Amino acid sequence: MNRFVYADHAATTNVAPEVLEEMLPCFGAEYGNPSSLYGIGQNASRMVADARARIAKVLGAKPTEIFFTSCGSESDNWAIKGVAHANASRGKHIITTVYEHHAVLHTMDALKKEGFEITYLKVNEEGLISPEQLEAAIRPDTILVAMMYANNEIGTILPIKEMAAVAHAHKVYFFTDAVQAIGNIPVDVSELGVDLLALSGHKIHAPKGIGVLYVRTGTRIANLIDGGGQERSRRGGTENVAYIRGLAKALELAVEGLPDMKRVAAMRDRLAEGIAKIPYTRINGSMEHRLPGNLNVAFEFIEGESLILLLDMAGICASTGSACSTASLEPSHVLLSIGLPHEKAHGSLRLTLSHGNTEEDVDYILEKLPPIVERLREMSPLYETNS
Ligand SMILES: *Cc1c(COP(=O)(O)O)cnc(C)c1O
Repeated sequence: MNRFVYADHAATTNVAPEVLEEMLPCFGAEYGNPSSLYGIGQNASRMVADARARIAKVLGAKPTEIFFTSCGSESDNWAIKGVAHANASRGKHIITTVYEHHAVLHTMDALKKEGFEITYLKVNEEGLISPEQLEAAIRPDTILVAMMYANNEIGTILPIKEMAAVAHAHKVYFFTDAVQAIGNIPVDVSELGVDLLALSGHKIHAPKGIGVLYVRTGTRIANLIDGGGQERSRRGGTENVAYIRGLAKALELAVEGLPDMKRVAAMRDRLAEGIAKIPYTRINGSMEHRLPGNLNVAFEFIEGESLILLLDMAGICASTGSACSTASLEPSHVLLSIGLPHEKAHGSLRLTLSHGNTEEDVDYILEKLPPIVERLREMSPLYETNS
């Protein structure tokens, strides 16, 4: 019998019932505009202030350092372009990594057209980067380092605290895209020492369309949207009160759920052991410095797209590369960055588990996946000649 197994939590997550409950009043009687002076307006204003304070507390920040945006991509864009534009007189050199999310990489492309120079730190075959590599790349005209806390495809966790210290020793701003880290590992801006940090609601059981940019007090950053003075005049636009409330709840739940990530990691390990029994299979990325729910496997002689379709028919949601690139046939830039040849990158599968997954889900994937891989290989001419 078919089950439904959602194993693509790095792409998006379901809205938690507690989050929905927290948002519902805003779709009913509490529809006020936070800028209005009468009762329901002031209720809305209090809701936003309350959410901002709760989020600040969870992240180890001050409420005035929390800015609401429409998504993780907006936070990435604002952090990078905002710091670049406000500090261009000091220098036009930015350091990032080869395997950032496209919201970062394409922002760098835009800045290159404006005359900024970008250095892309390479990663080793495990997906790791050392603080020494960063140190060596810093120049007198470097103004910003943009480095993800955890990679969305292979789950690699980078030593952000050490990296931020290196940047600061050279008076360079440090931004981290923590979209995948939040809810998987502890994230505290004071502990990490970062100047800017991005997060997104829909990766942590809040709805799609809400994000946060943390900006440390004193950071020079250009405003994003000129408007009615919301977000301390830095990002105008009437606040998305419902989603802001939902995000506060989701972040609190994410922190409460951190201890359960041990169980998730154990399920992931069992999945990895089971999959490793399939011949011509290799795990992509470091198993040591890795998000608890992430597994990324290369199957030789297979097209990832066909694998996803057959898994879907069996009720299993997974992805090949990242969701953003499923429409293109280009192999994942992340898998290429750790040295996979094109065909192995194409035959890679990402499974990302979270709290909602059970041991029965793992059993089910381990039951369905091997025969699907076998079936696809039997259809592959390469398999015949090479195996
Ligand atoms: C999903 C994701 C984003 C983009 O967030 P959206 O809210 O979907 O725009 C950015 N960075 C990483 C690492 C992500 O996984």
